[in-house]
Amino acid sequence: MIENDCAEVMGIRFPKLTLDRTVQFIGEVIERKSPELFHVITMNPEITMACQKDRELRSIVDEAGIITADGIGIVMVSRIRGGNLPERVTGYDTLLRLLESGNRKKWSFYFLGADAATNEKVCGVIRTRYPHASILGRHHGYFSQSEEAGIVAEIGSLKPDVLVVALGAPYAERWIHKHKSTLNAKVAIGVGGSLDVLAGKVRETPEIWKRLNVEWLFRLLQQPSRWRRQLILPRFAVKALLYRK
Ligand code: UDP
Repeated sequence: MIENDCAEVMGIRFPKLTLDRTVQFIGEVIERKSPELFHVITMNPEITMACQKDRELRSIVDEAGIITADGIGIVMVSRIRGGNLPERVTGYDTLLRLLESGNRKKWSFYFLGADAATNEKVCGVIRTRYPHASILGRHHGYFSQSEEAGIVAEIGSLKPDVLVVALGAPYAERWIHKHKSTLNAKVAIGVGGSLDVLAGKVRETPEIWKRLNVEWLFRLLQQPSRWRRQLILPRFAVKALLYRK
């Protein structure tokens, strides 16, 4: 895990880094060409809560290279409890910034996840928008157990600089951890539903909603079926504020 001043939320240590600094740090890891996969986890309140009961998930998080606060709830709790995280660092924003840097520095990418049509479409969008970032390969996220080994072997042989995994959290985090030693990627990051947004399948949250810290409400209005998942947010707030080791 990155050595840095950290804020603790429900026992999980979040480095106090802005989006800029986070992307710069990941870029340095890519340029260093270390043989070990660097796992980036963009933590939302759901995974943070799940870590309280799920020891295996907790150890995956503890072993990650860097953890970012993907949720205003985590940032707010850190501020109330004196940890002061500088800002939200979401999977979507980190992905866009990695693509921008990758376009400048000619990094290579592999995109795993989302449904087949979205996976294909997003790669077209990325090729147009970031022509110098190379897409070494891609695969949709609805593969069977018997297909999994082939996908891992393909990624392992292509050796991408960045493996983008859009399988939903915490499935993506478990998947990356399970195959960590054979993926041969320099960096792997779980990005939730980001490919859906980049492909235009799901509307991107307008800046004003993000600035007012109500992205969760925008997403709920766009995808009302998320209401059950979002019930966790007030529970997270109470538990995290009252948290004692
Ligand atoms: N997904 C997938 N395979 C699965 C389950 C989900 O590829 O077995 C994809 C799904 O199509 C979507 C993403 O994972 O693109 C999850 O999006 P969601 O917004 O639910 O994730 P979150 O950002 O909340 O983690």
